Amino acid sequence: MSDNTIGHWLDGKPFAGTSDKTAPVTNPATGQITGQVALATVEDARTVIASAAAAFPAWRDTSLAKRTAIIFKFRELLNAKKGELAEIITAEHGKVLSDALGEISRGQEVVEFACGIPHLLKGGFTENASTKVDIYSIRQPLGPVGIISPFNFPAMVPMWFFPIAIAAGNTVVLKPSEKDPTASLWIAELWEEAGLPPGVFNVLQGDKVSVDELLENTSIKSISFVGSTPIAQYVYSTGTSHGKRVQALGGAKNHAIVLPDADLDLAADAMVNAGFGSAGERCMAISALVAVGNIADELVAKIVERTTPLVTGDGTRGADMGPLVTKAHRDKVASYVDAGEAAGATIVVDGRTVQADGGEDGFWLGPTLIDNVTTDMSIYTDEIFGPVLSVVRVDTYDEALELINSNPYGNGTAIFTNDGGAARRFQNEVEVGMIGINVPIPVPMAYYSFGGWKNSLFGDTHAHGMEGVHFFTRGKAVTSRWLDPSHRGINLGFPEND
Ligand code: NAD
Repeated sequence: MSDNTIGHWLDGKPFAGTSDKTAPVTNPATGQITGQVALATVEDARTVIASAAAAFPAWRDTSLAKRTAIIFKFRELLNAKKGELAEIITAEHGKVLSDALGEISRGQEVVEFACGIPHLLKGGFTENASTKVDIYSIRQPLGPVGIISPFNFPAMVPMWFFPIAIAAGNTVVLKPSEKDPTASLWIAELWEEAGLPPGVFNVLQGDKVSVDELLENTSIKSISFVGSTPIAQYVYSTGTSHGKRVQALGGAKNHAIVLPDADLDLAADAMVNAGFGSAGERCMAISALVAVGNIADELVAKIVERTTPLVTGDGTRGADMGPLVTKAHRDKVASYVDAGEAAGATIVVDGRTVQADGGEDGFWLGPTLIDNVTTDMSIYTDEIFGPVLSVVRVDTYDEALELINSNPYGNGTAIFTNDGGAARRFQNEVEVGMIGINVPIPVPMAYYSFGGWKNSLFGDTHAHGMEGVHFFTRGKAVTSRWLDPSHRGINLGFPEND
């Protein structure tokens, strides 16, 4: 293998693996191949999983005080060095540096939440539930757990899971996206520096072969997956059929409703930020703007005003928006714009002809605004995952709500209004997991849980917050009675309280 092969992480050090299969990793702003990521064989995957399994007994028995001290240290190191990680993310994903730093900060919040694990794991205690009988509950780690992450947040999405998993006493195998695999190795080194024992955090680079081994291997006790809906569905059904606990977060098609009474300047700012930030490669990006009543012309004009000056370019040079992750993805997104145009939608801002501040071979597509989109167009029905904002015009709130509730996805949504009653009605009626009221990307803080409804999440447990603590632990209830002569005697009946 060549020098720029990106390998695995095992037992606290790099592991090259035995596979001669690799996939190219590119810098999306230049189009150049910068490395080859190893694609693990089944044997490689088993070796990494075995490391996590071997490390589990000692880690689960490590005191909460010692575990917490390591998480605190990891947090301090991450905070001090996050600029390095942001550069790695920008070089392989393409998002601008400030956005890469933002993703790290959102992940860091979960690390900070996990620092409170002693409090989060506290059980209940009931004294004298029956005479001289006490009952208490404890939560214990599961064992080695698998995390499978998508390309669009190579640091934040793994950090939704591993801080809590590790703090709760589990060991981890992370299978990152093969499109931007290096961030995971940087994180692994940081854990090493923080004093995490070898084998507690491992990285397995690969494709379906690695994923399938994680889903089927009996040592792995749970799977946390984030990615597209078809793969999430596959991961959920395969993992659960192998007896594992699975949370599988899928794709999205997020709508924002703008009511006629909304502050249209605020709404226009929000649509630009949420539609084009990270080149639309966010599962919480707004891709459908539903303009209610007669405001559409004015709102579209305000969005155009804000979109035209945006600079698309190399994320290291101060651009507003970076390239798309691969050439194939760029071309696919552009083909959706072509299809929308052919179907009769109005291309108001055309990103296909953008003059980017970056390499000639970069995967460029500028912010694209499309008006008069109808619900039968593929640009509306499909998750596009690019900087494309579609405007759908409707007459009433009820029509807007019906659009969202009949959509197969239910990740995030937002309403823009100054009417508290309308907002309150919306939060009650809309069938979506995360809702913004005058907030376009309502990603909950780490102490709440992140997750959508319908085809945006398979399983019943969302990421981080108390749901994350529950996912990575199993409960036990203990009923105890210490010997007391007064309770001697035979009684074959089911115990009754006395
Ligand atoms: P993806 O589904 O292609 O890949 C996700 C992971 O699955 C990767 O690690 C990949 O290697 C693996 N994988 C891909 N094909 C596989 C197969 N056939 N069998 C087994 N494993 C396979 O997703 P992506 O393109 O990396 O990420 C973008 C998608 O992720 C979008 O749909 C986006 O909405 C979604 N996403 C959702 C959330 C959320 O919270 N709901 C967050 C981020 C991204």
